[in-house]
Amino acid sequence: NENLEIVRSALKLCPNFPKKGITFIDIFGIFANAKAHRALIDIILNRLSNRNKTIDVVVGLEARGFVFGPQIALSLQVPFVPVRKRGKLPGKVAQIDYELEYGKDTMEIQLNTLQPKQRVLLVDDLLATGGTLGAAQKLCANLGCEVVETLVIIELIGFNGRAKLNNVEHFTTLFQF
Ligand code: IMP
Repeated sequence: NENLEIVRSALKLCPNFPKKGITFIDIFGIFANAKAHRALIDIILNRLSNRNKTIDVVVGLEARGFVFGPQIALSLQVPFVPVRKRGKLPGKVAQIDYELEYGKDTMEIQLNTLQPKQRVLLVDDLLATGGTLGAAQKLCANLGCEVVETLVIIELIGFNGRAKLNNVEHFTTLFQF
């Protein structure tokens, strides 16, 4: 597919970032290129239009889920709601702890941004171990919502991140080996 190739060639691979031995995938290369940006959004909207489950709200993960999540929400004509790291959101929040490669972190969502029984599309830039997206799914479930789809731009094969996603349809734009 031509659009997929346009997106793939806009990714920037950054060896030894943020530390030696790790190759970081910089997705901002996509947004720096209007053609690649358009191609990415078209792939995602095409996928979403080909499924018949209703989505009531798009929930995006800090920080790169904030870059393209709102565009999806706007196209679907539904609200966009952010999930952020601990201490960034004002007012009352629901929290969940999750495991990182080294150590733990906490993510939060403002209360009353999601209503019970709402059908959620969760978006982030990248799926590796699935710890992040899996925790966000639990956070939404704790508020009585159902995550009906998870969506990322890139999935790192080999971490089996999908195993951390519980009974949900998952869409990956590009697989990285
Ligand atoms: P996981 O929790 O192991 O699935 O890691 C996914 C999280 O780590 C996402 O929120 C990503 O933004 C971030 N992440 C891990 N590796 C990369 C990378 O190479 N590029 C961009 N983000 C990454």
